[in-house]
Amino acid sequence: MGQDYVLNKDYFIDVIKDLIVLAEEKRDYFTGLDSAIGDGDHGINLSIGFREVEKNLEEWAKEDLTTFFRKVGMALLSKVGGSAGPLYGSFFMKFGTPANGKDEVNFQEFYEMFKVAVESIEARGKAVVGEKTMVDALRPGLDAFEKAIEEGLAPKEAFNKFKEAANEGADSTIPLVAKKGRAMRLGERAVGHKDPGAASSAAFIETFYNKLP
Ligand SMILES: [Mg+2]
Repeated sequence: MGQDYVLNKDYFIDVIKDLIVLAEEKRDYFTGLDSAIGDGDHGINLSIGFREVEKNLEEWAKEDLTTFFRKVGMALLSKVGGSAGPLYGSFFMKFGTPANGKDEVNFQEFYEMFKVAVESIEARGKAVVGEKTMVDALRPGLDAFEKAIEEGLAPKEAFNKFKEAANEGADSTIPLVAKKGRAMRLGERAVGHKDPGAASSAAFIETFYNKLP
């Protein structure tokens, strides 16, 4: 599978730089979504977390991918409030583990990075599809990615399926009643609003896609 397709540290650093920009640009959008069904801090929390990453990026960029992402994850875990901190914290702490201390990964390893990271969000949040959470974007996205790899699509095309399914999954949260988090208390009143975590997750995946060679 995509044996010649290697993603080096520059790719991942560029993605993180874009995520730092995204967290600022979409701060009000994510916060607006969270204001409708939560406590209105999702965008602010993400921007605080990624500002912490930005402060340390140059230093952390000297590390191998496993250490680099562990540090990113720990920063998000400690700085991002609400449920997003532990969830994105665990996502990024796990994300680098398939890189095994290296500075680059092949496409199989790249796939495994998302697999372990999405599974860690599912485990941490104890969430499944249909509960109006990040998992509604990430699980169908990962499944579509796996299917595309099995079908032999080229690496970037296969990841495009991840991006598309994650965006559709985020949209699929609009008509849902929430089964997790603060929005759960709203019952039917959460219906008609996109889940902020699913929206930010889909935007993260899109950022990884946009930088792929
Ligand atoms: Mg919140």
